Amino acid sequence: AHIAQLPPVSDFGPGAQVLVQIADLSDQRATEVARTDFIANASHELRTPLASILGYIETLRGHAKDDPEARAHFLGIMNSQAQRMQRLVEDLMSLTRIEMAAHSSPSEICDLYDTTREAVRALQPLAEKIGAELNLALPEEDLALIADRDQIAQVITNLTENALKYGGQGVSVTVSAASSVPPRPRMVGIAIEDTGPGIAREHLHRLTERFYRVSAKKSKEQGGTGLGLAIVKHILARHGGELAVESELEQGSSFTIWLPVSQN
Ligand code: ADP
Repeated sequence: AHIAQLPPVSDFGPGAQVLVQIADLSDQRATEVARTDFIANASHELRTPLASILGYIETLRGHAKDDPEARAHFLGIMNSQAQRMQRLVEDLMSLTRIEMAAHSSPSEICDLYDTTREAVRALQPLAEKIGAELNLALPEEDLALIADRDQIAQVITNLTENALKYGGQGVSVTVSAASSVPPRPRMVGIAIEDTGPGIAREHLHRLTERFYRVSAKKSKEQGGTGLGLAIVKHILARHGGELAVESELEQGSSFTIWLPVSQN
């Protein structure tokens, strides 16, 4: 309705100014809607495990009081629900921290291959627990970037962890220097490829939305918060990087991160 009342854009002068103001307003409104949505989602995600914990407290106070076996069982469930809340709060805090730093450019020097190697090696115990194969195939050379090392490590960790978690027993995950064509000149990439279940095409463009999951059940079984890829997206945006996803159902998925090499 606002737009209809606007003078034609060709009328330079006040018209152009109004246009900008309206654009700003609707931008602001879109941000507000996104924020409200986010708070609603986050509250819902926290409320579910909290309700479960409160329910089991009642049960423990009541008939399970004198039954050691039932007590142990309910305490186990309460523990895993509390851990779920903890992971969620940690991911929400990560996301907030990254957003607060979004306008400051990274200034550290970080070696991409070295950072990747360290992050992947830390996941070897998880791979063993799952019964998955985790391969590293990175060049021995140095590749220095201006990037926040902890954040780059977090990107690699989130993507590799997903490949292991959703691939499950028997999956093979390979982390290597990207062999595909970079989206822009002077970008370097790391590819995380898995032989897991794959992701249907219609989900691919939504994967980095906060709380978007292909299967809520599977994500929750795996202890997922639905924030892992949103965190990846925000970190890459802060670094002027990009994320490319390719996937084929029953064949596997490939996530490639691209980062600009330092200009010097
Ligand atoms: P979550 O905490 O649920 O893992 P993410 O943001 O990390 O959240 O991922 C979003 C969704 O993308 C997951 O719930 C899962 O459905 C899907 N996904 C991510 N990585 C993979 C993968 N390597 N293979 C299959 N599905 C994946």
